[in-house]
Amino acid sequence: MFKLMRIKNLNNPNKFKNFNFKKKFIWIFILCVCNQFIKCEQIQTEDKNFETPNILYIMSDDHAKNAISIYGSRLAEISPTPNIDRIGNEGIIFNHVFATNSICTPSRASILTGQYGHINGVNTLRDDFNNNSNHLGKILQKSGYNTAIIGKWHLHTEPTGFDYYNVLPGQGKYFNPMLKEKGEPWKYHNKGGKRYEGYVSDVITDESIKWLENRDKSKPFFLMSHHKAPHGLWEYAKRHENLFEEVDIPLPNSLYENKKHGPLKGEKYGSSISDRNPKRSMLNQVSRKNWPTGAIDTFGLTKKGKIYAAYQKYLKDYLRTAASIDENVGRLLDYLDKNNLSDNTMVIYTSDQGQFLGEHDYFDKRWMYEESISMPLLIRYPKKIKPKQVNNDIILNIDFAPTFLELAKQTIPLEMQGKSFLSNMQSNTPKDWRKSMYYRYWMHMASHYNPAHYGIRTKEYKLIFFYGLPLNQKGAVNTPTDPYWEFYDLKNDPNENNNLYFNDNYKNLIKKLKNELNLKKEKLLDTDEKYPELEKLKEKHWN
Ligand code: CA
Repeated sequence: MFKLMRIKNLNNPNKFKNFNFKKKFIWIFILCVCNQFIKCEQIQTEDKNFETPNILYIMSDDHAKNAISIYGSRLAEISPTPNIDRIGNEGIIFNHVFATNSICTPSRASILTGQYGHINGVNTLRDDFNNNSNHLGKILQKSGYNTAIIGKWHLHTEPTGFDYYNVLPGQGKYFNPMLKEKGEPWKYHNKGGKRYEGYVSDVITDESIKWLENRDKSKPFFLMSHHKAPHGLWEYAKRHENLFEEVDIPLPNSLYENKKHGPLKGEKYGSSISDRNPKRSMLNQVSRKNWPTGAIDTFGLTKKGKIYAAYQKYLKDYLRTAASIDENVGRLLDYLDKNNLSDNTMVIYTSDQGQFLGEHDYFDKRWMYEESISMPLLIRYPKKIKPKQVNNDIILNIDFAPTFLELAKQTIPLEMQGKSFLSNMQSNTPKDWRKSMYYRYWMHMASHYNPAHYGIRTKEYKLIFFYGLPLNQKGAVNTPTDPYWEFYDLKNDPNENNNLYFNDNYKNLIKKLKNELNLKKEKLLDTDEKYPELEKLKEKHWN
């Protein structure tokens, strides 16, 4: 009561005259202390409202759109991903995002450099990333961002452009993984590091949160939190072993499709769920006693057949592994909420490329088909993006770096081939936005027996030229395969089950697409002049 009277007196000009100097001093002192206390409170709430926002980039490895429930696939109901979906529900869902070369190392290099592999030098899994190049991490770091990468790196050379890194050597392990921390000598990309107790997705998130806690809070942050999961071989956390126990995983309509793709109708090309390709067969793999989660016998061959059983086993292993990602995305979102960082942070969820989940009898990626080249992409940034937005523009992994640079108010280097899609995510797609995309898989026949190919995808059609040459690429198999073409009408055949290349109704359209493909190659500086053997082959097989 006494204090209130005093305040009243302070606000009353007539009484103020009688207020002696000593009392005035005490009141000024009290007000200063209160002011300091309020300032401390503001610092504790963390949201500094930097002119440029924080960027939290969460990327998993081989996480198919079909395994993320917001995309509404056949798996959405049995395998929901509420935390990942939250990013899209509170922000924007992108439906047509593609990797320009659907394998880990090249896609990661393209994300950082904004360039295709033929420009940044990473065409195959064996190519080393040029860590002297000017890339996203480096530019953001120079512009005043506090930068870090934690988790899977897979670019061979030591990470540059990051104030802090703690990365898995090579592919890394699912249980008690090693992580290589900045400061330790970088001798071998796939060896070294310190052992961390626990499951890899949890460890990567623990380390990401630890870095967020201890970061320099006077700067905005750019954190790349990169998961190993759900990359094969799929070893799930103990807590997920009973997930889907009594569940029959729904089948894709093309699981039993066989021999529809490839020069010899696919007998020996590409990975297979069935034993079609004995060298890369899921059925053969999961029948082995040393399969990490136990051989298929322990799962039980069903009356529905071996392919069905191999598919069930693969999908259960894969989805259980992916479940750890959803939980850990939830942990990061909670951290942002609790620390009042959600409003001023752009949160991105994506994967380096897609993954076949039994479609066309395939697992793995590499092919230019939809399940492989499609990347999930969900972005939340409440200050600029309204909730529940949907975008259908053709967006590529090379567009990521320009977008984050524009967000950070940085100049986009001319050598970046991608374009910023910042305005696209605010429902304002530029009029000259690309209407088609160029794709190229270089690593001829390696590992999963996919012939080298390139092609063009528009919103409605896809044309692929399987040239089948190694072209001295690192890791490519030195045996050419027969060249062939495929063409799909995506509007009428979204699952790419009917190759219409030889259908006369599409003759003129295919001719037009071939021209467009050549123009695109010229524009992107990926002409085949360097490879006379390919030029020669094109002369024979282009028309
Ligand atoms: Ca990958």
